[in-house]
Amino acid sequence: MDATLQRCDVAIVGGGLVGASLALALRGTGLSIAVIEAFAPESSAQPSFDERTTALGNGSRRVFEALGVWQQLAPEASQIRRIHISDAGRFGFARLEARDFDQDALGYVVANRVLGRELWAALRAQSDVSLRMPARVTQVTLDAEEARLAVEDASGRYTLGAKLVVAADGAQSLVRQAAGIAVTRDDYAQTAIVAAVRTDQADDGTAYERFTQAGPMALLPIRTPQVGHWRTLVWAAKPEEAAALLALEASQFLARWQQAFGWRAGRALQLGHRVAYPLSLVRAGAGIAQRAVLLGNASQALHPVAGQGFNLGLRDAAELAELLAAAARTREDVGGEALLGTFNAHRDVDRNGVVRFTDTLVRTFSDERAGIASLRDLGLLLFDLLPPAKRALSRVSFGFGGHSPRLTRGLPLQ
Ligand SMILES: Cc1cc2nc3c(=O)[nH]c(=O)nc-3n(C[C@H](O)[C@H](O)[C@H](O)COP(=O)(O)OP(=O)(O)OC[C@H]3O[C@@H](n4cnc5c(N)ncnc54)[C@H](O)[C@@H]3O)c2cc1C
Repeated sequence: MDATLQRCDVAIVGGGLVGASLALALRGTGLSIAVIEAFAPESSAQPSFDERTTALGNGSRRVFEALGVWQQLAPEASQIRRIHISDAGRFGFARLEARDFDQDALGYVVANRVLGRELWAALRAQSDVSLRMPARVTQVTLDAEEARLAVEDASGRYTLGAKLVVAADGAQSLVRQAAGIAVTRDDYAQTAIVAAVRTDQADDGTAYERFTQAGPMALLPIRTPQVGHWRTLVWAAKPEEAAALLALEASQFLARWQQAFGWRAGRALQLGHRVAYPLSLVRAGAGIAQRAVLLGNASQALHPVAGQGFNLGLRDAAELAELLAAAARTREDVGGEALLGTFNAHRDVDRNGVVRFTDTLVRTFSDERAGIASLRDLGLLLFDLLPPAKRALSRVSFGFGGHSPRLTRGLPLQ
């Protein structure tokens, strides 16, 4: 008998973007929920709520509306009213306009720190989710009866028993390893540099996606209390080029960026802090195990080129929350095979579609063979001319098909 044993229905390992969203969705379901997170959301060491900004699709906006946090996020969210896609040094470009789809915006950009602040403020304001933070899960064992987690915090070590353990612990997931789930890892041989850039031109709601020889680059509108016209830059380059770019003085970096990006967003004036992220596609070989389920980056970590990773992870969370809420109502086993099998079946199409779409985009636009580059131009041109192709892309923000969770349709869980 373990004297330190505590129990809950669902233990969520990781209270980053996906884990915190899931915990919030499970409020009021009658289930006892524990979130174990290693870092406070406001800590500079927090890996999820860091310097980045996240482009949220309209599906994600609806989820946050249903969770009651959009009202707090909206004043700090920048609208993406158009997306401009171009290929550096070539003629092809395409444009997507929100008004062509009768939408206010194609998406919204929110700073990760703002997402962390608001998700955790909402979690701290309620009582039916037990927040264990800072605390770290150091070991997980799974059997037919329950999942057992060894948790360490400032006061020592204890054991947490749960009917279901949710791996929301990111790309290096300990839960995934403990469940014996292997991963495939495709290194893109690219590093993303993320930084804020100030120019002399005001934001008009345009998000730029530019494919350069070194790798894809995105420039996104952001709202910031700082004076001047700031945007977020995500610039993926080969690792050695990224290292050279990171070593440049700010003014030299901006000159190189201006050369690669052009003048569409105005003249570069100031550069914020630069942070680097090595990029690879990490995919778990399975999405579930005995009394365990993988969500977000623990299941699939993607190239950020299309801004899909968190949007996909949030749909994972929305689906799982819906199934758990229904199981709580009917007193079904929340960690049982039936529920986990349904989760897997419902998430398969969307997950595979997003992974394929993102991976194809990166590989097509990193291919420098002359014929491929011309086909790309043609593709962008056709895309610009063909309304059905644009409509298809604008729907991506609601998922790539398969079962569509209630929260992404703006409906309550039950
Ligand atoms: C440069 C860049 C730009 C991006 N831009 C976008 C975008 O615009 N739109 C978009 O949709 N996606 C974007 N993404 C992807 C997005 O950031 C990820 O999909 C998202 O962070 C996944 O969230 P997560 O909660 O699954 O994992 P993580 O963010 O990795 O969070 C994992 C959490 O688990 C905690 N943890 C880990 N292990 C333990 C443990 N043993 N015990 C306790 N806690 C633990 C960590 O502290 C962390 O808080 C981008 C990614 C990158 C790299």
